[in-house]
Amino acid sequence: NEGLGSWPARRARKTPHRTALIHEERPTDYRTLHTRVTRLAHALRARGIRRGDRIAHLGPNHPAYLETLFAAGTLGAVFVPLNTRLAGPEIAYQLADSGAKALVHGPAQAGLVAELAGSTDVRIHVETGDAYEEALAAASDEPIDEPVTPDDVCIIMYTSGTTGRPKGAMLTHGNLTWNAVNVLVDHDLIAGERALVSAPLFHTAGLNMLTLPVLLKGGTCVLVEAFDPEATFDLIERHRITFMFGVPTMFDRIARHPRWAGADLSSLRILTCGGSPVPTPLIAAYQERGLTFLQGYGMTEAAPGTLFLDPEHAVDKAGSAGVPHFFSDVRVVRPDLTPVGVGETGEVMVRGPHVMPGYWGLPEETEAAFADGWFRSGDAARVDEDGYVRIVDRIKDVVISGGENIYPAEIEDLLLAHPGITECAVIGVPDGTWGEVPCAVVVPAAGAELDPEEVLASLAGRLAKYKIPKSVVVTDELPRTASGKLLKSRVRHLCGTQLP
Ligand code: AMP
Ligand code: MG
Repeated sequence: NEGLGSWPARRARKTPHRTALIHEERPTDYRTLHTRVTRLAHALRARGIRRGDRIAHLGPNHPAYLETLFAAGTLGAVFVPLNTRLAGPEIAYQLADSGAKALVHGPAQAGLVAELAGSTDVRIHVETGDAYEEALAAASDEPIDEPVTPDDVCIIMYTSGTTGRPKGAMLTHGNLTWNAVNVLVDHDLIAGERALVSAPLFHTAGLNMLTLPVLLKGGTCVLVEAFDPEATFDLIERHRITFMFGVPTMFDRIARHPRWAGADLSSLRILTCGGSPVPTPLIAAYQERGLTFLQGYGMTEAAPGTLFLDPEHAVDKAGSAGVPHFFSDVRVVRPDLTPVGVGETGEVMVRGPHVMPGYWGLPEETEAAFADGWFRSGDAARVDEDGYVRIVDRIKDVVISGGENIYPAEIEDLLLAHPGITECAVIGVPDGTWGEVPCAVVVPAAGAELDPEEVLASLAGRLAKYKIPKSVVVTDELPRTASGKLLKSRVRHLCGTQLP
C-alpha cells in the first residue's frame, strides 16, 4: 500500500510510542492509531466495503474522522468528508452524488442521519461512541495489505461552493502526499510539532495544511471539536502548541479576547492563515506579540497548497501570496492563455502532482476546469518583477462599471483601514447608466457608530471616482461559509439586489 492508508503502519514502525492524537485530553499513540485503523478497516470490510467504494464521514474533529480516512485508504476505498454545518438536503445530495455505501457519524448527527436514512443508498451506519468501539473490539487486527497506488482516489472533497451546486474534487493519495511534502518543505515542520486542530477537518485546510503533514512527520495533533477563543488560550498553554492554522476571522477573535495580553504564547512557532487574504491590522497585532503569519494561497482542487509567502518576505512583499510551493507550478494568463506581463491582471493556473485529476462524475466540468493540462483557478492575480503573485480577486467578483474593471478587494482594503470598520464586502449592483456600480457592506467595530457619508468621504481622493461605492450599507454580520469565505451572493440581498 503506497497510499495514506499505510501512514499509521509506517509511523507505528518508526515511532510507536509517540502521541499522534489528543482529543478531550485523551492521547492516542501511533501504535494504537495503527491498530484501531486496522480494526476499523476489517469491520468495514466485514460489512461489505470493497476497493473503490465510498465511505462518508459526518461529524466534528474527532479521532474517528482520521481513523475512518486511514481505514478507507487501507481498503483502497474513497473517503468523503461532509460538512456538519450543511442542511439535511445538502448532505443528502453529497451522499447521493458520491454514491456513499457507508456513513460514520457523530452522536450529534444521529437525528439528521436517521431522517436521511430513507432517502439515500447508505447501507452501513456507524455512530462514534459505543457502537463504534464495539465494532472495533470485535474486529481482527491482522495487517491488511491491499495494493493502493498514488494514482488511486483517496478523498472526494466537495468544494465549499460560494455559488452553484457543490462539486466533488477527487484527490488521489499522490495529491495528498505531495501537498504534505510541500508543507513540510515550506513550513519547516519538525517531529516535535504539536498542532492545534480547531479548523474543521472536513475542509481542505484543516486536514491538508495542518493535520496530515504533522502526522507524516510524527508530530501530535490536538483535535478540537469547536473553535472557541477562551479554550484556545487554555490549549495553547497546556499543550505548548507550536502550530496553528486558521482563517482570519479566527485569529481576529483570538486577538480581541481579554486574555490576549496576558496569555503565554511562547510555544507558538508556526501560524498559518489561508482561505482569504490576511488583513494588515491582524498581521500587525500578531507582530506585536512576536508572531508572524505564514501566508499562502490554495484551493480544494489543488489539495490545496499552491502559493506560499516565506516569512522572510512578509514585509517587502506584503499583500502578495508568494511564489509556488516546491512541487507546484503557477502561471497567470490572459483570456487567450498567454502569460501576462509584469503588473497586468490575469487568471491563475496551477499544475503539479498535488492537482486533482478531476471532479467526481462530472467529465464536462472537469474538461472546462483545465486548459493545456493546467487547472483554471478562477482567481485574478498580478505578478511582480520577482515572480511574486498577488491575488486580486475572484474573476467573477470583478465589477465592471462603464467598461472599467473594478476589483472589490482594492476597495475593501481601504475600508478595512477605517478604524470604525472590522469587516466589509464590496459587490457590484446593477445600474442603468454604468451597467454595474460598486456597493459596500460594512460591519462596525465594537462600540463604533458608522456614518455612511463619513465612510464615503474617507475614500475620496484615494480611489478613482468610478471605484468609490455608490452606497454603504451598515450591518452587524457578513454571511460566510464554514471556511470563513464571504458569501457574496448573500451580501447582494443586503444591498437590495438579488442578481447573480
Ligand atoms: P476552496 O476551493 O474552498 O478551498 O477555496 C479556494 C479559493 O479561496 C481560491 O480559489 C481563492 O478564491 C480563495 N483564496 C484562497 N487563498 C487565498 C488568498 N491567500 N488570498 C485570496 N484568496 C484566496
Ligand atoms: Mg473553489
